[in-house]
Amino acid sequence: MPGTSLSPALSDRSRLYLDLEEKYGAHNYHPLPVVLSRGERIYLWDVDGHRYIDCLSGYSAVNQGHCHPKIINALVEQAQQLTLTSRAFHSNTLGEYAQYITTLFGYDKVLPMNTGVEAVETAIKLCRRWGYQVKGIPENKARIIVCADNFHGRTSTVISFSTDPDSNSRFGPYMPGFVIIPYNDTNALRQALQDPYVAGFLVEPIQGEAGVVVPEDGYLRKAWQLCRDANALFIADEIQTGLGRTGRMLACDHEEVRPDILILGKALSGGVLPISAVLADDDIMLTIRPGEHGSTYGGNPLACKVAIAALTVLLEENMTENAQQLGELFRAELQNLDSPHIQLVRGKGLLNAIVIRHANPGAAWELCMALKDNGMLAKPTHGDKIRLAPPLVITREEVLACIGIVKDSLLTLDRIGQ
Ligand code: PLP
Repeated sequence: MPGTSLSPALSDRSRLYLDLEEKYGAHNYHPLPVVLSRGERIYLWDVDGHRYIDCLSGYSAVNQGHCHPKIINALVEQAQQLTLTSRAFHSNTLGEYAQYITTLFGYDKVLPMNTGVEAVETAIKLCRRWGYQVKGIPENKARIIVCADNFHGRTSTVISFSTDPDSNSRFGPYMPGFVIIPYNDTNALRQALQDPYVAGFLVEPIQGEAGVVVPEDGYLRKAWQLCRDANALFIADEIQTGLGRTGRMLACDHEEVRPDILILGKALSGGVLPISAVLADDDIMLTIRPGEHGSTYGGNPLACKVAIAALTVLLEENMTENAQQLGELFRAELQNLDSPHIQLVRGKGLLNAIVIRHANPGAAWELCMALKDNGMLAKPTHGDKIRLAPPLVITREEVLACIGIVKDSLLTLDRIGQ
């Protein structure tokens, strides 16, 4: 039923899966009512065989497209050989992966982890350790500057410096040692960096979860320079913005900034399994010695082979260039819709969002329901923002198909009241 706010009734099959999740799963998410069972390239299919264009890409984990055959082959081949050794022993895959990823990004060393937030935690520990050991900050006094409206994950340390009450309220007490400044504000950063106990500045090059908030041109470069002048580490969380998503391999590349600590995750596996990484040079990385940090699964053979394949296909298939070109088309076409319900279109490459203008606070959700009914999946963030971030393998025709779906679906917002 295209273009209506009344979504078609769920099939019995879909209802069954939904009910199982509802009854037996924790209620820590509020998903769109669609039950998916298959994915290929930019497409997802539900259990009733309906096809959708995926405009969320697993929160940018699936940059390479769903079930990319070369990544899946790497997974299957390695799964038949060896999956986990733990770091108690060596494997014949970790060295190869470490050489590959450090060469690609130009760092001395990599520290492999699993989920994004674990890599953020790792970066925080590295930054503090560097602060004590290299910068000479007195023990337990190190501070890290972060930005308001950040999203770096969900552990108790990381939510300690979130400004989103949904993330942190009633989860205290909180981890001390973080200074929150406004995003995109180099004056605030300059001021905060006057504190000699600051070890680093942790920043998202574009704030993804906040609704694809793009800072002013030059912000990252300026921030990097300020950190350098203050002998503080510039730490880029590129978990969502990295790996081609914004039209460069890293979003920091737009401003030729080389972070002192680079955090990657999500698309490092192409959506196949949780793989994250922290990259840094020896003066930072070697401040952590054996036994001081780690993870049972970090750097496991399956992950090493999958990550090499995921990075290789990004390069081989020019996905970054595609994101750059088609991102521009995507934004231009969204602007051309000239809809009274689209307050703003913003983004870089294929990390884009629209901000909805409507008297009804549920309008963005209703629009996502209409998009779903019309064959496209997206999810609102912070109420009125909808991220539009398809896999980077999308074609020009498919971008135009997305625009057609958005156009039809916007009609829904003419019909709903306040
Ligand atoms: N950092 C950023 C910028 C993210 O967007 C996310 C997830 O959305 C994370 C960290 C956390 O990653 P994960 O959910 O894999 O722990």
